[in-house]
Amino acid sequence: MPHFKAPPKKSLGQHFLVDRGIIDMIVLAVDPKPGDRLVEIGPGQGAITLPLLRRHGELTAIEFDRDLVVPLSQAAQGVGTLTVIHKDVLQVNFTRLAGEDRLRLVGNLPYNLSSPILFHALDHAPVVRDMHFMLQKEVVDRMAAAPGSKVYGRLSVMLQAYCAVTALFDVPPAAFRPPPKVDSAVVRLVPHAADAIGIQDRARFADVVRAAFGQRRKTLRNALSGVCDVEQIEAAGLRPELRAEQVEVAAFVRLANQTSAPAVQ
Ligand code: SAM
Repeated sequence: MPHFKAPPKKSLGQHFLVDRGIIDMIVLAVDPKPGDRLVEIGPGQGAITLPLLRRHGELTAIEFDRDLVVPLSQAAQGVGTLTVIHKDVLQVNFTRLAGEDRLRLVGNLPYNLSSPILFHALDHAPVVRDMHFMLQKEVVDRMAAAPGSKVYGRLSVMLQAYCAVTALFDVPPAAFRPPPKVDSAVVRLVPHAADAIGIQDRARFADVVRAAFGQRRKTLRNALSGVCDVEQIEAAGLRPELRAEQVEVAAFVRLANQTSAPAVQ
């Protein structure tokens, strides 16, 4: 049996899953099929890695903690083919890693890095088939929220513009060692096909969404005053008296496209 001697590192968000029932639910949710290219972010001591490997036979795992790399590789011996990439996941080029394949990303993520990891994965969306991530429940609630919800905000719009977001199930602190202070949840993200997204200028879209939610209580007219004018808001089919939390994702896309600089002829 492998020896994971090093104590959990708080700085790396190490909360290891120990609840077999939850681990089984994650594997069932991923439901790997022959030929799938699985990539796990932050395998830790292998709580999800080894069951996935047992089921699928092959897996790539990206782990930043040097102390875990050798024991993890040892633990995988005789279970399946595990490739461990010892790197900060934010430095991993998923497009290069995918080659001709599309990746299925899985991970109980370090919570302090969850947003950067999500947006890093979305930068490589064409090669990402889907993602199953454990995150703070509060973050999953915001990711999956619909317009009108108290927690619908910038994160909801920025992710739902690029992916279908489904909150799958909640996970209590007792499922981890050491237990985190917050509840967790597992979420599935499936990137939309590139031609279904419709955003003409990603940076412009991000600017519009940031400004709209900059001050939640402000109307679009006021919140967007430095970004676009009332005519452009109306041309996107929106009433300027609305607040950002009432505006659906497709309307933000129309608004950003409406205000995109015209292409140079
Ligand atoms: N998957 C394991 C489990 O469920 O028990 C561990 C999950 S733990 C919440 C997060 C893992 O991500 C840790 O193993 C940690 O070392 C790793 N990690 C933290 N920052 C990372 C980074 N920048 N790149 C890759 N892995 C990272």
